[in-house]
Amino acid sequence: MSALIIVGLLAVFVVGVVLTPFLRPRRTPPGPQPDTDLLALVSQREALYQAMETLRLEHELGSVEDVDYQNRLQEYRTQAALTMREQDDLEAELARLEDAISAARVRQGLNGGPRCGECDNPVDQPAGRCTSCGAEWAGPDAITTEGADR
Ligand SMILES: [Zn+2]
Repeated sequence: MSALIIVGLLAVFVVGVVLTPFLRPRRTPPGPQPDTDLLALVSQREALYQAMETLRLEHELGSVEDVDYQNRLQEYRTQAALTMREQDDLEAELARLEDAISAARVRQGLNGGPRCGECDNPVDQPAGRCTSCGAEWAGPDAITTEGADR
């Protein structure tokens, strides 16, 4: 009876060890891919939790020494905490990007064409004076410039 349980546990353990390399997420190349990076971080952390669980089982089965177990567990925990912090940074960066994009959209009047900076009426001509209020209009290209006074 107990022999069956041990055989069963061993089978689960062996399958886990064989499958682990295939379950690890591939690292995405560095570059401006916040979405993929975010997904990679999440699956990386899931893989770490899985590794911790496997380690715990190995330890229970007696195939991992106490000291070794504690050291590796600590290492996994540190790595998981690092991915969490990286994720926070990425999410903050994403939020900043989204803010910048919607601000740029408003500036360029993408929801209905370029608008006058003075009276907020739509301005069609490339440059000159606003047809509604007569304010100087530098053209749609001018407002895309970074560091504008407005
Ligand atoms: Zn105007």
